[in-house]
Amino acid sequence: MYGDGTYDIHPRRPEPPHQPETGEMETTLRGVGVSHGVAIGEVRHMGTAVLEPPAKQIPADEAPREQGRARQAVEAVAADLIARGNLAGGEAQHVLEAQAMMAQDPELMADVERRITVGSTAERAVYDAFAAYRALLANAGEYLAGRVADLDDVRNRIVARLLGVPMPGVPDSDEPYVLIARDLAPADTALLDPTLVLGFVTEEGGPTSHSAILARALGVPAVVALPGAGELAEGTVVAVDGSTGDVFVDPSAEKRAELTRAAEARKAALAASSGPGATSDGHKVPLLANVGGPADVPAAVEAGAEGVGLFRTEFLFLDDSEKAPSEEKQVEAYRKVLEAFPEGRVVVRVLDAGADKPLAFLTPADEPNPALGVRGLRTLLDHPEVLRTQLTALAKAVEGLPVYLEVMAPMVADRTDAKAFADACRAAGLQAKFGAMVEIPSAALRARSILQEVEFLSLGTNDLAQYTFAADRQVGAVSRLQDPWQPALLDLVAASAEAAKAEGKSCGVCGEAAADPLLACVLTGLGVTSLSMGAASIPYVRATLAKHTLAQCERAAAAARATDSAEEARVAAQAVLSGE
Ligand code: PEP
Ligand code: MG
Repeated sequence: MYGDGTYDIHPRRPEPPHQPETGEMETTLRGVGVSHGVAIGEVRHMGTAVLEPPAKQIPADEAPREQGRARQAVEAVAADLIARGNLAGGEAQHVLEAQAMMAQDPELMADVERRITVGSTAERAVYDAFAAYRALLANAGEYLAGRVADLDDVRNRIVARLLGVPMPGVPDSDEPYVLIARDLAPADTALLDPTLVLGFVTEEGGPTSHSAILARALGVPAVVALPGAGELAEGTVVAVDGSTGDVFVDPSAEKRAELTRAAEARKAALAASSGPGATSDGHKVPLLANVGGPADVPAAVEAGAEGVGLFRTEFLFLDDSEKAPSEEKQVEAYRKVLEAFPEGRVVVRVLDAGADKPLAFLTPADEPNPALGVRGLRTLLDHPEVLRTQLTALAKAVEGLPVYLEVMAPMVADRTDAKAFADACRAAGLQAKFGAMVEIPSAALRARSILQEVEFLSLGTNDLAQYTFAADRQVGAVSRLQDPWQPALLDLVAASAEAAKAEGKSCGVCGEAAADPLLACVLTGLGVTSLSMGAASIPYVRATLAKHTLAQCERAAAAARATDSAEEARVAAQAVLSGE
């Protein structure tokens, strides 16, 4: 607990990690709490990839029965895809209907039946027939190659049905549930109904993984890096405490009441905080929201965000696996976000595709190490037409609006990158400030040189940690190194902020580091000029910042940087800020 116990440090690391504790009534599992609040509900698992069915031979007289099973499974999966499409509507409906048609393809079915006639089980025949079709598609040019992921999904669904295991992807449920997954990628969550997800628990992932980001965007509690989570039986009741990282299995009535009371008390205390972000002595630190599109705007406005510090535009690109959204569709989405903050500031990040956010029509499929390959701005420089459409759409969307538009590029490595981006913005006639994200250590080290080309910096501490520590942000086993309190990361933040100050320009933070209230004070002390985070974290950060002077924040920053580990840095900053 921090200060008066109201504002938890965020994210909280388990102590000791991952050790189950068994009390008389319930078992407690511990992971890393990454999104505040308490969720109590039944567990539903995100279906994982379907395993390869064994290649066993069946007697000839079983073939007709197996063929019947295969036909039934195909029909049921097609009907399910159509029903989900009707529910989802829009682009998602087209994708799901196209998948239903793939499932019912007569040639594919004929191949499945032929394979069963020569001794395959239904599931193995489906698996092999789809593999043959997949190879054809993958080699048939860009358009058809883009369908491979959809085809794999259809195959997995049919095989899962035949094996009687959970369907891959988002659970089918009409009742609210706690989602358990190995980890979540943005594409997994496109069909997630936010009204049904009470909270998340993932086996993998760290504080900066997409699961954590999504949970904060939805404002639901989340615990990540909890290896035992996959073993919780479907339907088990759990209570997830996203502040402490505890997951109580079959919690007693008293435990539920205790957790709910604590969460409500915390909410009430936070509701009392309002207004622009500032330290207690009036040093302004605008608090901005991270959004994925217009749907996230109401929560940002409600939380009192002073604008948007990171509009992750890649979410607009997830609906269609073959092409970028049209200029008109982009104008519409951008305008909705821009209109929500009249006179405010909205920082739009151009498409950040590749690595953990691959797009079939843009991302090379054969990179040996995608995180070090063509991603972010590199993708856009290889596909200038996609960047041009985005910038033109932004120029049209902002016409006549009083908002301060800022546009930034992800994964800028050096001055050459920054210049290429600024040139593209100018060529599109965009009336906005152009900026660079600092996500690669080279950009932090040479921030002054980058600032010769652009007007602001925004620190993407999630990727900056990943690349500084050579620690994949999706891998739970290295989450220790993903900790944004690592002094080396703080040094890079300081270098960027100092460079921006020397150039008379701004330097914000839009990575998940900004969502940790205590760290937000440290970042302020390091000289960052704005903090952007999931809307749900804004009240926590505002309330904590308002209790400390700028000088205290500076002392806390210096104390944190003088240590040798994330844990020591956190303790040192906390000691300064609580006046110990
Ligand atoms: C970051 O890397 O810190 C960032 C904000 O970008 P994303 O999380 O979308 O990669
Ligand atoms: Mg990033």
